[in-house]
Amino acid sequence: MARANAAYYARRDPFADFITAPEISQIFGELLGAWCAVTGRGLLKGNAGGDLLLAEAGPGRGTLMVDMLRVLSRVAPDLFARLSVHLIENSPRLREVQKASLKRFGVPVTWHETLASIPRGPMVLVANEFLDALPIRQFVGAETGAGWREHFVRDGAFVLSDAVVSPPELAGRVPEPGEIAEICPAACGFVQDVSRRLCDAPGAALFVDYGTATTASGDTLQALRDGQPVSPLVEPGTADLTAHVDFEAAAGAAMATGVRCFGPVEQGALLIALGAVERARALCAAAPDQANTIRTALDRLIGPERMGRLFRALALLSPARLAPDLVAPPGFPDGTPYGEKP
Ligand code: SAH
Repeated sequence: MARANAAYYARRDPFADFITAPEISQIFGELLGAWCAVTGRGLLKGNAGGDLLLAEAGPGRGTLMVDMLRVLSRVAPDLFARLSVHLIENSPRLREVQKASLKRFGVPVTWHETLASIPRGPMVLVANEFLDALPIRQFVGAETGAGWREHFVRDGAFVLSDAVVSPPELAGRVPEPGEIAEICPAACGFVQDVSRRLCDAPGAALFVDYGTATTASGDTLQALRDGQPVSPLVEPGTADLTAHVDFEAAAGAAMATGVRCFGPVEQGALLIALGAVERARALCAAAPDQANTIRTALDRLIGPERMGRLFRALALLSPARLAPDLVAPPGFPDGTPYGEKP
């Protein structure tokens, strides 16, 4: 799956196949830009001359970063002047698209294959629909209930391993025969790598994705081509492959490092807390002929039957000794660290 998705992002325009929050409305990126302004300010307090790294993982067309930079340049020009942008993107084609979108801001932009090459320093990182694009592994509870068989692709077809295994990620889970369990070592590994950095230098991170607050059973691997569900095995590289993010597993990987972890909160709740309704109202007032479109887009982002509930956000902050001025990330209820669902 890893190679199939890399081939996909390198060849196709993913946005012909699905639409993401920043592509639905500028409100999404503007509010995340405000989130970055508040956390960035908090991180740099007491470090008046310092620079801020603004990082994004999986920036797609660059739309989220464009909307965030526009807001930052307006509401936090002092911070904007000290920014360098770092994009983690492995598709050469999308890198070109991002370059064209960001040119007009005149801020330094560097592309990275992985987090590792982003320079050390105070950092705010965002990632929207990045973790869901990373490859999962699937397991099926063995008939005896004593372990798992891996469900994987061999010679173009799904097969079950002969061997019964007990991957460490599933330790403590008693398999029901036939139960499907998914793990995403790449997503948990990425969240953990970000967390380790935040334990080493001041920083904040925001992950938004669709998935469950607690680990769930079931097959969530999905392939979309031209907006239609297709078999994940259709010509590899021609469909977008995603799986639900297990936020419990991601938070567990983060907390093992000592980082402060908040959420997950539902996307609707986060955006409303950040001012989505007020922002939509202001946009409608400025462009009354667009009001219906703006309201429909807002409903898509926050509506409980739309993206509002299925999508969730997890936030990470450096330990208090590195970021003493940040008590909780904006939009995450104070004192609601991971484990207590608001
Ligand atoms: N955040 C964007 C795009 C989401 S699509 C939006 O909200 O619109 C997923 C993005 O992650 C694409 O830019 C894709 O090229 C990138 N990506 C997927 N797997 C990656 C990997 N392993 N390393 C770096 N980038 C990756």
